[in-house]
Amino acid sequence: EGPEMFAPERANSKGWDQTHRPTLAAIDAARGAFRKHEWHNTALNGESHEVRNPADPADLVGTVTYATEADAKAAHAAATPWSTGDRAAILNAAADAYEAHAEELFAILHREAGKSLPDAIGEVREAVDFLRYYAAGSRDEGNTGTWVCISPWNFPLAIFTGQIAAALSMGNAVIAKPAEQTPLIASRAVELLHAAGVPTAALQLLPGDGSTGAALVTEPSLAGVAFTGSTETARRIRASMADHCAPGTPLIAETGGLNAMIVDSTALPEHAVRDILASSFQSAGQRCSALRCLYVQEDIAPKLLTMLKGAMDTLQLGDPWELSTDVGPVIDEEARASIADYVATARTEGRVLHELTTPDAGTFVAPTLIEVSDIDDLTHEVFGPVLHVATFKATEVDHVIERINAQGYGLTFGLHTRIDDRVQEVMDDIHVGNAYVNRNQIGAIVGSQPFGGEGLSGTGPKAGGPNYLTRFAPKGAERTGT
Ligand code: GLU
Repeated sequence: EGPEMFAPERANSKGWDQTHRPTLAAIDAARGAFRKHEWHNTALNGESHEVRNPADPADLVGTVTYATEADAKAAHAAATPWSTGDRAAILNAAADAYEAHAEELFAILHREAGKSLPDAIGEVREAVDFLRYYAAGSRDEGNTGTWVCISPWNFPLAIFTGQIAAALSMGNAVIAKPAEQTPLIASRAVELLHAAGVPTAALQLLPGDGSTGAALVTEPSLAGVAFTGSTETARRIRASMADHCAPGTPLIAETGGLNAMIVDSTALPEHAVRDILASSFQSAGQRCSALRCLYVQEDIAPKLLTMLKGAMDTLQLGDPWELSTDVGPVIDEEARASIADYVATARTEGRVLHELTTPDAGTFVAPTLIEVSDIDDLTHEVFGPVLHVATFKATEVDHVIERINAQGYGLTFGLHTRIDDRVQEVMDDIHVGNAYVNRNQIGAIVGSQPFGGEGLSGTGPKAGGPNYLTRFAPKGAERTGT
């Protein structure tokens, strides 16, 4: 018998209506008023680190104090599980504080992470939803300890907050290590969490680079690690935990994917094109859920690809704050250069089917279509607005599913078809965490679409789902399940 289904009474954040002029005016005013965010923790001994705007490197967004390896040890010594107090009420108060400060959070997300306003709104909403969802599941199962939470720059508020809220709600202490690129939004979030009543010894922030994260996961006493990032880093964390931690210490990892979509000849082309665009190019393709490999049935490929190219031509690249912008910059120059190199190689090989023009300044990558024969041609996850396209014959659907399953990842998948039986068959056969039919394949919703992958894409259980919290209560609690 499995654990009882967790379906708490609570509502997701209502969000912010960009079409409502006063709301938009307040958001703009807050952005105008926001200059820099400074976060300096005298307990940390690393250097002061500058953070710059990816769209405009001359724009200094703020500074934070970095942690040293000695600080990582000290943080473990100081960490105190949160055993007393009304954790649910405090996490709910933090959710309210995020909403009350949303305009400022949008401004930081825009300047530090290159987020568009719709993406920034989605991100604050998701962070608030995680806080309330996990607060509702907060319980005492004893045996709490210190969790290390290591989060990515692509959802620098939502995933950062989700990991922390889950660990805290079960009474653990948390040491949070934000991505190197996005420590400012993390530090603002931690200020709000502390102000709402989360004890400072229960939640410590350790900004730094990969070496800080590496130092944090060598601690023998740690209760577990929650990590979202690359599959390669997850492997390193697992190896380090195997060397240093007690056997069975949990690692919850959310990693990469080579996500596919199948569009068969019965799909509505306008509908499919809209969902392909959103899945591949929204957030400049910087979601682990993003579509990377599109399989189009041969019979409709010429028509669908002509429409897709036409639709791509309408995409605007630019300042993510402008509401007319569809595709903002990628996170930094290193990311831009590596994606640009990848596209350049495909260009020399004559495989670029379509590409837009890249703006001269800023870390932009133009949306690009690259031809492949199969998903195996994708050697790695290209984390940007690059979509690979393959075709298949009417008789090959099963074969395509086999190819997709065989590549080892299993995060998201999309299917566009009007054949009901096909929906059932494909959903039964595909090995992914999140499969979507006749819609885009990004933007899972806390509480209704738990998010997480299989295989090389993650360990489960899924974030924002009924089984996630049980994993943060190591002893005596249910330990498996997705
Ligand atoms: N949850 C996000 C989505 O459904 C993706 C998270 C990620 O990129 O790590 O689009």
